[in-house]
Amino acid sequence: MKYIEEFQDPELAQRLLDDIHATVTRPWALMEVCGGQTHSIIRHGIDQLLPDQVELIHGPGCPVCVTPLEVIDKALEIASRPGVIFCSFGDMLRVPGSNRDLFQVRSEGGDVRVVYSPLDALRIAQENPDREVVFFGIGFETTAPPNAMTVYQARKLGIRNFSLLVSHVRVPPAIEAIMQSPDCRVQGFLAAGHVCSVMGIDEYPDLTERFQVPVVVTGFEPLDILEGIRRAVRQLERGEHTVDNAYARVVRPEGNPAAKTMLADVFEVTDRSWRGIGTIPASGWRLSERYREFDAEHRFSVTGIATEEPDECRSGEVLQGLLKPNECAAFGTTCTPRTPLGATMVSSEGACAAYYLYRRLGGTTAPLEASPVG
Ligand code: SF4
Repeated sequence: MKYIEEFQDPELAQRLLDDIHATVTRPWALMEVCGGQTHSIIRHGIDQLLPDQVELIHGPGCPVCVTPLEVIDKALEIASRPGVIFCSFGDMLRVPGSNRDLFQVRSEGGDVRVVYSPLDALRIAQENPDREVVFFGIGFETTAPPNAMTVYQARKLGIRNFSLLVSHVRVPPAIEAIMQSPDCRVQGFLAAGHVCSVMGIDEYPDLTERFQVPVVVTGFEPLDILEGIRRAVRQLERGEHTVDNAYARVVRPEGNPAAKTMLADVFEVTDRSWRGIGTIPASGWRLSERYREFDAEHRFSVTGIATEEPDECRSGEVLQGLLKPNECAAFGTTCTPRTPLGATMVSSEGACAAYYLYRRLGGTTAPLEASPVG
């Protein structure tokens, strides 16, 4: 398949690996920001092929994983209400809230539907004018534009029985928070290529300057990731710290202006809570004043729900790169894809699920079960 198989070529991968091995002279720790990159790294064993001096730290870029527990609880509350049709992408249905998940709400009679686009939810709202239709709008800069467009369309078409439960987050403030952590070991970043395809690269020079770290915009296929690592390591060895675009076949420096215009119209920047991490200033979006009537939190009066994260799950440390999944005591024992304690074991982009799916069991001797993830 064009643009996929040609970026999985084993001979080219070996050449990139040889270059990385020849370049490295001392230890470096790089963070791949996106959960999709983490899955590609673990699936293809890229981390095991690198020189021992290069450590890959898994970052927080999994949208399902960082959605805070209290937002899941708000979704569960709204989805349980009579007259509501609650629409979501499928991976959110298994994410555990405080005491149940959306699948359980559905089994108890709630009208919870899996959709493939927010526009599907808007169509359902048009077809059911006597019902309230809510779409669960989570994710990073990649999923925010279509959700913004859907709210824009709802307003334009006068569809008042549609609303959005919003939990959108932004990558650059998360990088800033990681770098400000006293325990941070990250020396360079592989930025999420798909996020940069929307937002461009303008937000990164400030971060490279302030924290003296290279940021390499990186894709998702094995050659993309190896090239991102190669460029990051080369900068580190030279003492450089610039923004470098290694995903130029997709990312333009200015991003996608139409998507950015839509985001600026429908959303406004706000502080957001990240699951297991806490509140990061200016790290997310909420509906702007002009579109506030489409905010499900206000429509269903669930703004007061606040939930503490359970102590047993250490996904906050996993998401900050402070802990490898197989270093969590629950990994593969009480926490598996069938019995997840945290979202990082549920999501198809979660680091815990990647380690489980690709058998990175570490010291655990737990028997494997067939994994529904992936
Ligand atoms: S293995 Fe399970 S309990 Fe441990 S951090 Fe991952 S999701 Fe949480």
